[in-house]
Amino acid sequence: MSDPNVTLFTKIIQREIPADIVYEDELAIAFRDISPQAPVHVLVVPKKPIPKLAEAIPDDHRVLGHLMMTVKRIADQLDLSDYRVVINNGEGAGQTVFHLHLHLLGGRSMSWPPG
Ligand code: 5GP
Repeated sequence: MSDPNVTLFTKIIQREIPADIVYEDELAIAFRDISPQAPVHVLVVPKKPIPKLAEAIPDDHRVLGHLMMTVKRIADQLDLSDYRVVINNGEGAGQTVFHLHLHLLGGRSMSWPPG
């Protein structure tokens, strides 16, 4: 049986699938979305395969904070001032890859509420 924790993001982390990586450190990796919804659309992914935010545990607080700081770092790196950060939690919220990730979207104006 295949391991449900091994998603395509694990394969990107392990360099089994190519991706346009913009940042990486010991806790996180960030790469451009294959189907960008804005001129800048980067996915910021913990190396730990947490399936979704609802399954994070208290010990994950360091990595969760690190993901937010990584978004800020990449936004600075890409010279973005205004941007949106999204986490889809669960199928009903639009999650399709069950390895926690933050979407960093920028480079165009955005409306609210999202669909
Ligand atoms: P979710 O819908 O789970 O919040 O976001 C998953 C994201 O992963 C989608 O925006 C989708 O376009 C992106 N994605 C799916 N497959 C690949 C892939 O093979 N490479 C990259 N870079 N992004 C992918």
